[in-house]
Formats: sequence, C-alpha cells, structure tokens
Amino acid sequence: MATAWRERSRAAREAGFPYVHALLNEGREAGASLPHSHTQLAWLSEPPPTVVAEGEPGSECAVCAHIASELGASHERAILELDGIVLLAAYGGRLPYELLIAPREHPGGSGYESDLLLAALTVLAEALRRLHSLEGPVPLNAWLHDEGHWHIEVLPRLTVFAGIELGAGIYVNSLAPEDAAAALREEGPKKA
Ligand SMILES: [Zn+2]
Ligand SMILES: [Zn+2]
Repeated sequence: MATAWRERSRAAREAGFPYVHALLNEGREAGASLPHSHTQLAWLSEPPPTVVAEGEPGSECAVCAHIASELGASHERAILELDGIVLLAAYGGRLPYELLIAPREHPGGSGYESDLLLAALTVLAEALRRLHSLEGPVPLNAWLHDEGHWHIEVLPRLTVFAGIELGAGIYVNSLAPEDAAAALREEGPKKA
C-alpha cells in the first residue's frame, strides 16, 4: 500500500494537484462505498481546511510537542512504538479509540516520500487488528495528514454523532483515552 500511495501521490503532483488526501473508510456507517475495506486518494489543489488549521503558527511543531509530552510523562496513552513510529490514543479523543500514528522524530518532507510510511501503515494495520479483536468489525475512518509533521488519524465509529456533537462541537466520549490505550496495549502483538 505504501508503494501505491507514493506512486499515486507523485502522479497527482505531476497532474497539478499538490496535496493528496489518503483515506480509509471501513463499514457503511463510516461512508464506505464498497463492502470491503479499501483506501482512496483524493487529489486536491491545496491542503484542506483541517490540515491548514493544524499548521503551526509559531516555530514549534505541535505534533513534536504532543509526542514529547505523551511519551515524557506517564505513557498512559501510548500503545506501541515500532520502527520510529508511535501509536497513541488521541488526547481528548472525540470518540472511543480515536488514535494518532506519527513518526516519533520530526520528519522532513512528505509522508508519501518517507521511508517511515511503510512502518506507519504497518502500525495502522496492527492498530486495526487489535481494535477489531476487542470490538469486532467496527466502522471507522482513517486518513493521512501530509503537512509539517505528517501523521495518520484513526476515528472508529463506535458511537454516532448527535445534536451535541454536530451542533455544539462538544464530543461526549464514553471511553477515556487512557482506558482505550490500556485495552489496546493488552491486546498485544500478534502471536507468530
Ligand atoms: Zn514535529
Ligand atoms: Zn491531523
């Protein structure tokens, strides 16, 4: 998948679309158009608003600061680290098991061109394996944010957004990120 993403993102740039939004929709409740899991790449003429909003106004990288604080203290939201990629339960996650996958060190350049992309996708697959083993075939969305400190966000759709979330932007998460991380840690690596 890493190779396919890299090749398609190069094709997009050559065609004049500098930003590629890679996404995974799994399950009809998460908007999947096909019954099986598949990834899509949307070619965009500029970074989308969510990515722009994440951009660092100052010189500090928000993702670096976040990882340093998550791994520096109690590790209670850290799930695993593999080949330079960390998997964290999202601090202040909107929904149960919201996850963040990112290079531990600040990457230079696009995720599509990174040597760490394969490791990041391997961590994504392992995270989904553990999630499915805990909760069954939950619908979910995942995507790559490819600017600055690129990262993958995973949003399982165990609960639906209702009036409070959609209307007020207040997310009622019934599972604390610390508990989600503990459950996913305990799922452990796949036995060989
Ligand atoms: Zn960074
Ligand atoms: Zn992001």
